[in-house]
Amino acid sequence: MDESGRNNQGDILDRVKRFVAEELEPISITVEKEGRIPAEIVNKMRELGLFGLSIPKAYGGLGLSTLDEIRVYEALTQTNASFRSRIGTSNSIGSMGIVYDGTEDQKKTYLPRIASGEWTAAFALTEPDAGSDAANIKCSAVLEGDHWVLNGTKQFITNADCASVFTTIAVTDEQKRARGGFTAFIIEKDFAGFSVSLPDRKMGLKGSHTNEIVFRNCLIPRDNVIGGREMVGMGFKTAMRVLDKGRLTMGACALGASQKLLDLSAAQIKHQINSGKSKADLQVAQFSLADMATEIYAARRMLYDTARSRDAGQNVTHEASMVKLFCTEMASRIAERAMDIFGDQGYLTRSQIEMFLRDVRLYRIYEGTSEIQRLVISRNLLG
Ligand SMILES: Cc1cc2nc3c(=O)[nH]c(=O)nc-3n(C[C@H](O)[C@H](O)[C@H](O)COP(=O)(O)OP(=O)(O)OC[C@H]3O[C@@H](n4cnc5c(N)ncnc54)[C@H](O)[C@@H]3O)c2cc1C
Repeated sequence: MDESGRNNQGDILDRVKRFVAEELEPISITVEKEGRIPAEIVNKMRELGLFGLSIPKAYGGLGLSTLDEIRVYEALTQTNASFRSRIGTSNSIGSMGIVYDGTEDQKKTYLPRIASGEWTAAFALTEPDAGSDAANIKCSAVLEGDHWVLNGTKQFITNADCASVFTTIAVTDEQKRARGGFTAFIIEKDFAGFSVSLPDRKMGLKGSHTNEIVFRNCLIPRDNVIGGREMVGMGFKTAMRVLDKGRLTMGACALGASQKLLDLSAAQIKHQINSGKSKADLQVAQFSLADMATEIYAARRMLYDTARSRDAGQNVTHEASMVKLFCTEMASRIAERAMDIFGDQGYLTRSQIEMFLRDVRLYRIYEGTSEIQRLVISRNLLG
C-alpha cells in the first residue's frame, strides 16, 4: 500500500475506469455495429493486465482477490458488454480449472501465456442436449495408448474463434457419468481433430463471439487431464467449482450495466428538466430512478459481502446463486425502466439503452439460468 492508502488493486481499478471512459466508450456503438473489437484495443487490454486479473502472481497474473476482481468487471461493464466478455472467459471459466486443480507443470505451461493475453482461454461444457442439465453431456473420450481420443460437439463456446486453449469436459466413464465419470481436459486449438465453426448470430454482445466446436477423433496427450492422471473422473467437480465463482462475476456484470443505465437515466431526466419539462410531469420517472438506485445499492452490498466471504475462505455456493439471481434479474428490470424513461429515444441505437436491454438478458441465461439458481437456493434451504 502507498501513502494515499491505495494498493495495486486500487490502481488497476482506476486504470480500468479511465480505459473505459477514454478508449472503450467512444467505440461502444461501432463495436456493436461491426461485430468485432479492434485488435489495438485487445492489445491495450493485454498491456493493462486484464487477461490475468485472477491468475496468481506466481504465474504472471495480477492475483486479485474476488472483491477486487468483481469491481474491475463492474467498471468494465459500464460500456458495451463485449469488452468484458473478451477477457472474461480467460480470467474465469477458461483458466480457473487449471488454477484450482491443475498440476504444477500445467500451471507453468499455460497460465503465464493466458495471463499475458498471448493465449485466450475458453470453457467448453455446453452441448446441444446439455445446457442447464450439464450432467447430460455426450462428448466422450477414450484412452488409447498415450492419448485420449475425444469425439463430440460443444456449442455456445464464448471466444472459441480467438481462443488457443479450451478447458473441456467430457465423459470418460459412461457408467459413472457425473458421479466420477467426467474428466476435464486442456485442449489446444492445434490438436488434430479439433475444429471451430462460424460465429453464432446473436441478439446481443455482437463484438464477442460464440461458436460450435467439433471434436473428430481429437487426440489429447494423456498428460492434458487437468490435475493429471489421478484426476481422471473428477471433471464435474472441477467444472462446478469454476462455475461457482462465475456466478459472482455475472452479478458484477449485471451490476455494472445497471449502474450505467441509472446514470444515463438520471442524465436524461435532468436534460428533460433543463429543456422545460415540469418536475410534476416527470414524477413517475423520478420515482423510477429512486427505485433503480435503491435496488442497485442492495445488489452492490450483497455482491461485495459475498465476495468478501469468499475471500475469507467461506463456501458461498448458496449466496453466489442468490447474488446471480438478484443482480441479473435486477438488471433486466432496470433496463426496462431506463427504456421507459427514455421512451422513443431509448429505442435509438445512439442512446445505448437498447443495447444494454439486449445484453443484460444474457446474464439471466449463461453460467446457470435464473431457474437453476432458484433450484440451487431452494434445494439448499430444504436440505
Ligand atoms: C452468449 C452465450 C455464451 C455462452 N458461453 C458459454 C461458454 O463459454 N461455455 C459453455 O460451456 N457454455 C456457454 N453458454 C451456454 C450456457 O451456459 C447455456 O445456454 C445455459 O447453461 C442454459 O442452457 P440451455 O441454453 O441449454 O437452456 P436449457 O437447459 O435448455 O433450458 C431452457 C429453459 O428451461 C429452464 N430449465 C432447465 N432446466 C430446468 C429445471 N430443472 N427446472 C426449471 N427450469 C429449468 C431454463 O431455466 C431455461 O429457461 C453460453 C450461452 C450463451 C447464450
